[in-house]
Amino acid sequence: MPQVISRAREIQAQATSLRLTGKRIGLVPTMGALHEGHLSLVRAAKRDCDLAIASIFVNPTQFAPHEDFTKYPRVIDADLALLETAGCDLVFAPPKDEIYPAGFSTCIEPPAVARMLEGQMRPEHFRGVCTVVLKLFNLVPCDVAYFGQKDYQQCLVVKHMARDLDLPLRIEVCPIVREADGLAMSSRNRYLSAGERLESLGLFRSLQAANDLYQRGERTADVLQTTMLQTLSDHQINQIDYAKVVDAETLEPLNQVDRPAVALIACRVGTTRLIDNQILTHDQALATK
Ligand code: AMP
Repeated sequence: MPQVISRAREIQAQATSLRLTGKRIGLVPTMGALHEGHLSLVRAAKRDCDLAIASIFVNPTQFAPHEDFTKYPRVIDADLALLETAGCDLVFAPPKDEIYPAGFSTCIEPPAVARMLEGQMRPEHFRGVCTVVLKLFNLVPCDVAYFGQKDYQQCLVVKHMARDLDLPLRIEVCPIVREADGLAMSSRNRYLSAGERLESLGLFRSLQAANDLYQRGERTADVLQTTMLQTLSDHQINQIDYAKVVDAETLEPLNQVDRPAVALIACRVGTTRLIDNQILTHDQALATK
């Protein structure tokens, strides 16, 4: 099993001294309940760096009071076994008060790109994400930090924060890992009943439908969005937060898809909120990135 450190000062001292000996560190921040998507990030870190460090912390500040913070799955022993199979060297798994001790009161104001889409639905979410990610970067100084395209907007938010605040690291975005039938892997998939699991395929199928139309030359965002909504509805998905085609860099709405774009969906299947996305480009290598 990888070594597990729960104290902030201890991981900071250890990561700092490893870097002083010339080791390149890849950091993979997670909330645990790990699956192949997370492990792909650890493998990428092992490929590019000397050491892969994963963090496991269910961050309370990125959940709204009505969201699933208390029921979010916590399965540390299974997580550690999986991390070992991926070659993870060190795990930082702090208790809540190690990250947010009494008296904690500083927050990061997220970049502009955080205001769109998820920012509309979950107003405090990216403030919590930015704050915890910056703290993790300070506690686990690293050369490269790995994030999944599954959380497309989060990747942009973290990249913009790193750029705007001159953080001395590189953000690497890794492709979405899917189940055999196309459902994007997510820790929240384990909430789905058998029936909901079938319905949840609607997200991938509607992104595929939009991408098929795009590849055949359709460039009107409304037409692509209508197809997405129709496919979601065909799968009995009716609680839709958004199903949009937007500018891939700014997430601003588009009329015509005349520049790099991304189709993004957030919806509820039963009580479980799921998200997925697909980059729209002619370059298929880029589309799966
Ligand atoms: P989470 O534990 O949900 O906070 O996710 C931790 C990291 O794993 C984030 O950078 C996610 O984008 C990434 N991730 C989650 N699911 C997937 C997936 N299916 N494929 C690739 N990366 C993922």
